[in-house]
Amino acid sequence: MRVGIGHDTHRLGAGGPLRLGGGDIPHDRHLLGHSDGDVLLHAVIDALLGAAALGDVGQMFPDTDPANRGRDSGEMLQAARDAVAAVGWRIVNIDCIVHAQRPRLLPHRQTMRLRIADLLGVDPERVSLKGKTAEGIGPIGQEQAMAAECAALLAPREEDDSTTPIH
Ligand code: MG
Repeated sequence: MRVGIGHDTHRLGAGGPLRLGGGDIPHDRHLLGHSDGDVLLHAVIDALLGAAALGDVGQMFPDTDPANRGRDSGEMLQAARDAVAAVGWRIVNIDCIVHAQRPRLLPHRQTMRLRIADLLGVDPERVSLKGKTAEGIGPIGQEQAMAAECAALLAPREEDDSTTPIH
């Protein structure tokens, strides 16, 4: 088995909606970035690539490439998923933390879990997501930024993985 970790931080700007976990959440601020700024999916990508020793999201999607401007992070996550599978690994589980002062993530957690599981092609029970505030202090607490962390576990793909239904 292989374990990987991912971390990302993005600045927040005025105006919503908030793109997080592959979808839009109603909010009065949004994440800034060269791509769509989805800090959670970027942490998941880095955990998967890290577990397979395939580099990181910046290497796979350089911010110097105009094609990556505003790019959908869901599409980037699927590319990372495929890259990991191509070198012989399958995803056992991922565990994520989003650090955000606002909005409360609990009401959106299940939707994000289902979306990430769908993007990865795994059962939702393999995707864990937790939200943490920063107690009002520091750049996250002052709503200047959000951060995310992810741990991913990979196992060797089975011979018949491609023909085995996910459920
Ligand atoms: Mg990022």
